[in-house]
Amino acid sequence: MKNIIIFGAPGSGKGTYSEEIKNRFNMGHISTGDVLRAEIKNGTELGKIAQGYIDNGQLIPDDLMINILASKYDSLPAGKGVIFDGFPRTIAQAEALKKMLEERGDSLGMMIELIVPEDVLMFRLLRRAKLEGRADDNEETIRKRFEVYHNQTEPLSRWFEAEGIRHTFDWGVLLTKEGMIEAILAEVEKENA
Ligand code: ATP
Ligand code: MG
Repeated sequence: MKNIIIFGAPGSGKGTYSEEIKNRFNMGHISTGDVLRAEIKNGTELGKIAQGYIDNGQLIPDDLMINILASKYDSLPAGKGVIFDGFPRTIAQAEALKKMLEERGDSLGMMIELIVPEDVLMFRLLRRAKLEGRADDNEETIRKRFEVYHNQTEPLSRWFEAEGIRHTFDWGVLLTKEGMIEAILAEVEKENA
C-alpha cells in the first residue's frame, strides 16, 4: 500500500477516517496528537514539553516532532503502508517527511485533504469536548488552533498539490460521514490498483 497523509483542520475527522482506512487496508497508523497525549499521560520529559504548546493551541517545534515521527515510523512493520494523521503540519515537517521516506527507499504516496466549513468544525470540537474532555477543546483554544492551522498548516495544501499527490474531499459536497468514507476508500483503492 502507498503511504497516506491525512490532512485537514482541527475537527475535520482525520482520526475517524484514518481508522476506516486502517481497518479496510490493514495499514500502519501514526497520529502525532495521540502520541503526544500518551506522553503527557505518562508524565515523560517529552510530555512535559508538549503540554504547554498543546494547551495554548500552538504547534510543538518542528525538530522535536520530526524526531518523534521518524522513531514511530521505524517501529512499524515495513511494507504495509502508513497513515500519517496530524503530520506534517508545516512545510519544514513536509520536507523532512519526504526526505525521511526517500532515505528508506519509500515515498509520500497520496495526500487526502478534508475540507470542512469552520462552523461545522467548531460544533464538532465543542461536542467532542463534552464526550472526551480534551483540555484543548475549549472555544478559546479552538480559535487559536484554527488560526495556527490557517497560518502554518493550510499553505501546505499547495505544497502537496505541487507534488502531484493531493486528493480533496469536500464535506459541503459529500455531506455525511458515510459519504466521505465511501469516497475516500474508493480513492485509496483506485490509487493502489
Ligand atoms: P483532529 O481533531 O482532526 O484530530 P486536532 O488538530 O484537533 O485534529 P491533534 O492532531 O490531535 O488534534 O493535535 C493536537 C495538538 O497536538 C495540536 O494542537 C498541536 O499542539 C500538537 N501537534 C499534533 N501534531 C503536531 C505536529 N505535527 N506538529 C506540531 N504539533 C503537533
Ligand atoms: Mg486526531
